[in-house]
Amino acid sequence: MKKPVILWLRQDLRLHDNPALIAAAALNQPIIPLYILEQPSSIGAASRWWLHHSLIALKDAFSLQGLGLIVKQGEAKTVLQQLTATTNADRVVWNRRYDQPSMTIDADIKATLSSAGVICDSFNSHLLFEPWTIKTKKDQPYQIFTPFWKYCLTQKPPFPQTIPTTLKGFPLAGSSIDELGLLPAKPDWAGGLKEMWQPGEATALKRLDQFLDENITNYHEDRNHPNVDVTSRLSPHLAWGEISPRVIYYQTIRRLQEIPGMGAQTFLSEIGWREFSYHLLFHFPQLPTQPLKDKFKNFPWLSDTVLFDLWTKGLTGYPIVDAGMRQLWHTGWMHNRVRMIVASFLVKDLLLPWQQGAAWFWDTLVDADIASNSASWQWVSGCGADAAPYFRVFNPILQGEKFDKSGDYVRRWVPELNNLPSNVIHQPWIASTAYLKAANIHLGVTYPNPVIDHNKARLRALNVFKHLKEDNNIEE
Ligand SMILES: Cc1cc2nc3c(=O)[nH]c(=O)nc-3n(C[C@H](O)[C@H](O)[C@H](O)COP(=O)(O)OP(=O)(O)OC[C@H]3O[C@@H](n4cnc5c(N)ncnc54)[C@H](O)[C@@H]3O)c2cc1C
Repeated sequence: MKKPVILWLRQDLRLHDNPALIAAAALNQPIIPLYILEQPSSIGAASRWWLHHSLIALKDAFSLQGLGLIVKQGEAKTVLQQLTATTNADRVVWNRRYDQPSMTIDADIKATLSSAGVICDSFNSHLLFEPWTIKTKKDQPYQIFTPFWKYCLTQKPPFPQTIPTTLKGFPLAGSSIDELGLLPAKPDWAGGLKEMWQPGEATALKRLDQFLDENITNYHEDRNHPNVDVTSRLSPHLAWGEISPRVIYYQTIRRLQEIPGMGAQTFLSEIGWREFSYHLLFHFPQLPTQPLKDKFKNFPWLSDTVLFDLWTKGLTGYPIVDAGMRQLWHTGWMHNRVRMIVASFLVKDLLLPWQQGAAWFWDTLVDADIASNSASWQWVSGCGADAAPYFRVFNPILQGEKFDKSGDYVRRWVPELNNLPSNVIHQPWIASTAYLKAANIHLGVTYPNPVIDHNKARLRALNVFKHLKEDNNIEE
C-alpha cells in the first residue's frame, strides 16, 4: 500500500472547495482525515457544542466517500509526530489559519516534520483572498473598509472546486467524537442551541440556497430588524469552515447578475467585512488583545464585576440590551444590530473594557470568530481600524424604538415585559404605576430598574473619550 497523506482539518470542516483535500486527492495516496482538539484549547463553550456536532456531520460525509475521520486530542505537534510515525505518512496537508498563536504552531510543525522527512503543504480555504495579497498603492495593509472592499471587488477570488471524485481511505481506528468531551454535561445548557441549529456542511449549503431564494432581495433593509429572521445565519457555518466563502461569493454574484439590487450588494459587503477582519488580524496580530489606536492603550476602563454580571445575564433594565444578552445565552447567537447595541452599552455606558465583552462573546457565541469578534469589539469601542467615532454612543431606547418598533423582539426574549405596549416597552420606567400593575410588572422586583442613567452615562463617556483625545494630541 502507498504511504498515506494526513489531511489535518481545523476550521475547514467540509468536503466541497477544500483545497487541502483536493491536494491530498491529487497525490493519489490513501488519505487520513484528522481532527485534533488542540491542548490547551481556547475554544469557547458554545463553539465546543457546535464542533461536536460538526465533527459528527463531517465523519458521516467522509464515510460516504469511503474515508474515516480520525479524532485525537493533545498538543498538535506531538499528535502529528506520532501519527506520521505509526502510519508511515510522508505528507501532511492543511488549510491556513491567520491568528498569530496558530501561525506560530503551524510554522513550528512544518519545520519539525520537514526535518523528519515529512512534507507539509498549506492552502487557503477560509478567505476569498490571502491577506498579504491585498495592499494599498503604497504597499501597506488597508485600514479603511471602503477602499479595501472596492479593491477586492476588482480581484477574482479562486473559483470554488467540487469534491474530488477519487478518494482513497486508509484503515485506522481512532477515538470516538464523544471522547473529546465537547458537550456540556452538568448542567446541559445546550437545549436552546439544539432547537435553533443543525451544524454541518449540508445544512450550510442548504441555508445559503434558502437565504438567496427567500431573503436576499430586501436584505439591505430587513437586516437591521432583530425581530425578523432574514439574515443568512451562516456565521457559525463560516466560522467552522463548513461552507466556503468563495461559494457564497460566486452564488451571490450570480444572483446579482440575475436580479441586480442593493440586497445582494449589501450581503456581499458583509462577507467583505469578514474578509476585512481577517486582513486586520493578519497585519495587526495584536487585534484580539490590544487596541489598534495607540491612544486607547491607557484608557481608564472601570472594573465592576456586579455590573458585568448583570450585563451577561440580561438584567441591565434596558430591554433591548437584556433581550440581546438573553438571545445570546439561549441560542448562542445574537442579531448584528443588537450586538452593536449591547457592546456599546458595555464599553460606553458602563465603561467596562471591550476585552471583557469580547471574552464573554467568545465563550457564548456559536459563531465565535477571532477576527470578526475582535475587530467588531474594537469597532464599537472606537479603538479599531475604521472604527465608529468615540462620540457615537448607541442610545438603547432610541435603537430599540427604531429597530424593534413593535417591541416583539423584546417580548420574545424578555417575557416579563410581555404585556407592555410598544410605546413604553423600550423604557418601562416611564409607564405609570397603574399601567405597570396592569401589565404585572413590579420594577425592581419582576424586572430591574436601569442599572445606570443612559444620558448621564453618555456624558461621562464623552468626557473620558474627549480627554483621551486631548491628552494624546491626536486628530480624529
Ligand atoms: C460586538 C460584535 C461582535 C461580533 N462577533 C462576531 C463573531 O465572533 N463572529 C462572527 O462571525 N461575527 C461577529 N460579529 C459580526 C456579525 O454580528 C455577525 O457576523 C452576524 O450577526 C452573523 O449573522 P448572519 O450570519 O445572519 O449575518 P449576515 O447578515 O447574513 O451576514 C453574512 C455573513 O457576513 C459576515 N458578517 C456580517 N456582518 C459582519 C461584521 N460586522 N463583521 C464581520 N463579518 C460580518 C458573517 O460571516 C456573516 O455570516 C460581531 C459583531 C459585533 C458588533
